[in-house]
Amino acid sequence: MDIFQTLESDVRSYCRGWPATFDRAVGSRLYDESGRAYLDFFAGAGVLNYGHNNPVLKRALIEYLERDGITHSLDMNTVAKRDFLQALRDLVLRPRNLDYKVMFPGPAGANAVEAALKLACKVTGRHSVVSFTNGFHGMTLGALAVTGNSVKRAGAGVPLAHTAPMPYDGYLANSPDFELLTKLLDDRGSGLDLPAAFIVETVQGEGGLNTARIEWLQELAELCRRRDILLIVDDVQMGCGRTGPFFSFEIAGLRPDIVCLSKAIGGYGLPLALTLFRPELDIWTPGEHNGTFRGINPAFVAAAEALRTYWRDDNLEKSTVAKGEQAERVLADVAAAHPGIPMQVRGRGLARGLALPSGDLAERVCRNAFERGLLLETSGPEGEVVKLLPPLTVTDDELDEGLSLLEESVKEASR
Ligand code: PLP
Repeated sequence: MDIFQTLESDVRSYCRGWPATFDRAVGSRLYDESGRAYLDFFAGAGVLNYGHNNPVLKRALIEYLERDGITHSLDMNTVAKRDFLQALRDLVLRPRNLDYKVMFPGPAGANAVEAALKLACKVTGRHSVVSFTNGFHGMTLGALAVTGNSVKRAGAGVPLAHTAPMPYDGYLANSPDFELLTKLLDDRGSGLDLPAAFIVETVQGEGGLNTARIEWLQELAELCRRRDILLIVDDVQMGCGRTGPFFSFEIAGLRPDIVCLSKAIGGYGLPLALTLFRPELDIWTPGEHNGTFRGINPAFVAAAEALRTYWRDDNLEKSTVAKGEQAERVLADVAAAHPGIPMQVRGRGLARGLALPSGDLAERVCRNAFERGLLLETSGPEGEVVKLLPPLTVTDDELDEGLSLLEESVKEASR
């Protein structure tokens, strides 16, 4: 038994599906300690949008460390934080005409979500939030309360309160969009309190790559506007270009009241999270929401460099959309090649999913892929969706290679 089994908690998970000990990583590939290469179509659950050890970001980081730049700074002003804020304002917010204040809530996606929930309740004076079926927002108690997955919820150990789940796009077949939600909101006898906010993902990364239609998102935003309910878009996994544009909600022309970002915003895989909100909502008093790790300066350095490198034009967005379409075509061919097994292709941009009839089959596909040197994960309530999340910097050849390994893995699993 190795030290991972003897010393590390049983809570560990990814290492069970990928039983290798990894040592190095470059671009779209990881290498285990024996030197075997694995094509990474998981990208740290959407953290490594710019690939592993991206050379441009690495150079900026090495230079920063070598000149003894500040590493940790709570929320003190630093040159690195200023540089990041300027890059975010000039390359992301202003070009999109988004007027947001920036809060550093702590390093993880769940930190960004907790801050968003807290702020929504504080601003509105209400204490419930509406979430959507199969949504995933993190493992802290507030974030878990708006998360659908029953296994994850069961781990809370305390009641998860002050939330109400509503059907996500496509959840109820043959039902007009928002019929149930509007009826409950209108009916004084429904038992649904007027919520502070709705929290939504435009594509549900953990929930099975369920993809909200543009019209559905627009109708949701309109519903929020008419009823004075805040709209929180959790872009922790789908933001930073994963679906094409920097923010996943841009294609629907949304202007959410609050946006959560984390994962890929740190650029190099370093922890960083942001909660963005309309300036009028900034009613925090100093220190009212706090955290030791809100100023990890190497993350600011890599994040700023990533914005300057990849978001000064729309090249990355265009290539992500094109590569996503290529992935979609191959997945559709895979589905067509197995007429006896119902399969569904899902997703947007380079967040794609192949929904299979069972979690068992999806797990076999991922196991076969691992044996072929391809890292793939499952998602969805039963783990029934094979999820593709390659780095956005994946080359065309790597994408083709990964997709054909996936094709072989599905073929073998379906025998
Ligand atoms: N929100 C979304 C949409 C996520 O996908 C995740 C993680 O996968 C989180 C929040 C939580 O992020 P973290 O695991 O960094 O707390």
